[in-house]
Amino acid sequence: MLDKLELNTEAQELRELLGEDVNSPVDIFSLVSQIEGLTLVFYPLGENISGMCVLDDEIKLIAVNSTMSYGRQRFSLAHELYHLYFDKESGYNVCSKKLDPRSENEKCADQFASYFLAPYKSLRAAIKKVSDNGPLSMQKVIALEQYFGMSHLTMLWRLVCEGYLSSDQIKDYSFGVMSAARSLGYDDKLYRPAPPECQKRTYGHYLKQVEELRSKDLVSPGKIDELLLDAFRDDIVYGLDEDDQGREAID
Ligand SMILES: [Zn+2]
Repeated sequence: MLDKLELNTEAQELRELLGEDVNSPVDIFSLVSQIEGLTLVFYPLGENISGMCVLDDEIKLIAVNSTMSYGRQRFSLAHELYHLYFDKESGYNVCSKKLDPRSENEKCADQFASYFLAPYKSLRAAIKKVSDNGPLSMQKVIALEQYFGMSHLTMLWRLVCEGYLSSDQIKDYSFGVMSAARSLGYDDKLYRPAPPECQKRTYGHYLKQVEELRSKDLVSPGKIDELLLDAFRDDIVYGLDEDDQGREAID
């Protein structure tokens, strides 16, 4: 297995490749939308699967389980980026929600994801800032996960890995997270899944290809609608986005 230093370095390299600095919290969905040829699919993948990645000569695709919390979806996407850029074992990965302890590759992808969202050095600096050299309370853990946009559990495990918390504390810190976050003044978006009407969506390369067919008049309008509906983009076909309807753009 790659060591942590190497995985942290790879995470930094990918941030730089995608035009991001090596320390700041990232808008991972926006970063990923810049990857040439990549199609990103959000789909309810069931209880056990967090995401998947397909990479071959024709397809570059990442799918994320949209029924998981927003924070966990961010982590899953970072995990799949490891498969896309650094995994030399297979071009086809279906990743389970629970870490398979037998798979070194999955462990690497999880650690990479953690470093991609919260680089080693910036997590250390953030801990120093919030803890003031005292112990890490639940409130402080919530401040850290909100800053880096990580799910509560992935932040807890990272803090255990780095020696800031003991594994016994995981249980104590696992209850009442959403209400604690709300009472501390944070949005609880990080802990909730996408609303049901947004759980099936496709973004990226596939949409660009459909747009190219449309602009070059290569297929009928009916076929374009069919291709969009296949990609769960009824919002485009039927103009379902309420924010857009009949309104001027507002900045
Ligand atoms: Zn995986």
